[in-house]
Amino acid sequence: MLNYRAKNSRKHAFQKFFNGILGKMILTGLPLSFLSSLPCLVSAQQKPNVVLIYIDDLGYGDLSCYGATKIATPNVDLIAKRGLKFTNGHTTSATCTPSRYALMSGEYPWREKGRNILPGDAALILSTNKTSLPKVFKAAGYQTAIVGKWHLGLGDKVSKDWNGDISPGPNEIGFDYSFIFPATADRVPTVFMENHSVIGLEKGDSIEVDYGKKVGDEPTGKEHPELLKLPSSVGHNNTIVNGIGRIGYMKGGKKARWTDEELAPTFLTKAMQFIEKNQKKPFFLYYALNDIHVPRMPATMFKGKSEMGYRGDAILEMDWAVGEITKQLDELGLTKNTIIIFSSDNGPVLDDGYADEAIAKQNGHLPAGPLRGAKTSVYEGGTRVPFIVSWPEKIKPGQSDALVNQIDLLASFAGYFKVPIKNGEAGDSENQFAAFTGADRVGRKMMIEEGYNNLAVVKGNWKYIAPFGKNGDQLFDLKADIGEKNNVVAKFPEKVSELKSLLATETSKK
Ligand code: CA
Repeated sequence: MLNYRAKNSRKHAFQKFFNGILGKMILTGLPLSFLSSLPCLVSAQQKPNVVLIYIDDLGYGDLSCYGATKIATPNVDLIAKRGLKFTNGHTTSATCTPSRYALMSGEYPWREKGRNILPGDAALILSTNKTSLPKVFKAAGYQTAIVGKWHLGLGDKVSKDWNGDISPGPNEIGFDYSFIFPATADRVPTVFMENHSVIGLEKGDSIEVDYGKKVGDEPTGKEHPELLKLPSSVGHNNTIVNGIGRIGYMKGGKKARWTDEELAPTFLTKAMQFIEKNQKKPFFLYYALNDIHVPRMPATMFKGKSEMGYRGDAILEMDWAVGEITKQLDELGLTKNTIIIFSSDNGPVLDDGYADEAIAKQNGHLPAGPLRGAKTSVYEGGTRVPFIVSWPEKIKPGQSDALVNQIDLLASFAGYFKVPIKNGEAGDSENQFAAFTGADRVGRKMMIEEGYNNLAVVKGNWKYIAPFGKNGDQLFDLKADIGEKNNVVAKFPEKVSELKSLLATETSKK
């Protein structure tokens, strides 16, 4: 990586030098015909590159640019300084798979069953016939890639042969290149896949995966907790890989299994390779980091660095990886015309099934900041997430309170590129390009939020949550009460019935 840096810094310095000469010539009034005779010096303005940096389980209060004081995230803060920081930016849902489904498809996940948190052997839940976020970029002439976590299923059935090509997957929904792990780090199979196949697989050591019963004779976390370097707090006690119990059972593929400590550097390397290779073309990179999802087991150089346990260390690792990407873009001279979108798939969680001291070492840190709720919750802490968009060439830095949602990226870029979307596809995605780029400071008029098993509707300042558990109707004025502490149902009965019927209308749409 260092050699690569040095080489490109020199290239960049050369470019700067040459641009300087060019600037002087323009100032001194040399004829334009002279400029046009210089080959390849002035290329037509290229479409902006787009890097979508998608963090896992990062909360609204987990970044220093969003008010965290117990941890510093200077690299993410730099993106916020160069761009627009949204205070009311959302994912559709409070858990991984549904949010990622909406991001890719432009459809609310709850419109159909089966779009919940998927096991690691699930079949693909996205339609390969419909439009998708990467297909919009493909139609606009972009090179597209996903690097990182997928978690939207692979193949057309659950029982699949992990030892051959698996399709359909990310490549079939619009990514020219994919380097992923199939589901989450806490679920088997714990392998990398490049395009259609598992990498590092040896002949004669076939992988088998089962979520119902034990396969193979390797110890499980339940049978042998003494073998674990990271004990389980809840579940996560099936096959042990790298000293960590997982959800689900696997056997074989011993050399193909990753160690958790290499996840961040590996995904980063693959992301940077894609950028380097495609620096001359417009590219769309969906960089879906594993951090800060469980099991939190960062690279050795980050262990103990935050003094907040592995969760804090994973935040520092995430910030480091983000910084490497922005530095690379700087060195390649791509920063000005690259849109960076930084966000998270759902709100934060402390103990998520492993005894990693996230609670014991919290040290006063508030992962959701001032918000109520967390991952899985229908309160704001579940779906209101860090959301930053930078594009130095076009976006004026600052803060925006517009209501924006990841589900709208699809229709927004389709609108920007004038790529048509067929009727019946991406039906919940709105063209909010003006809000994402700061020209419009209002954004969405309304939006549905999805908790683990319940829905809410937001319209303007108001939020209505449908009854769940022992709760009846709930109504909050988010402007006066961002922490959703005061249920004002009794005070505003007309607002309750308005939003209740709005929610019913929206959810009955097909
Ligand atoms: Ca997540």
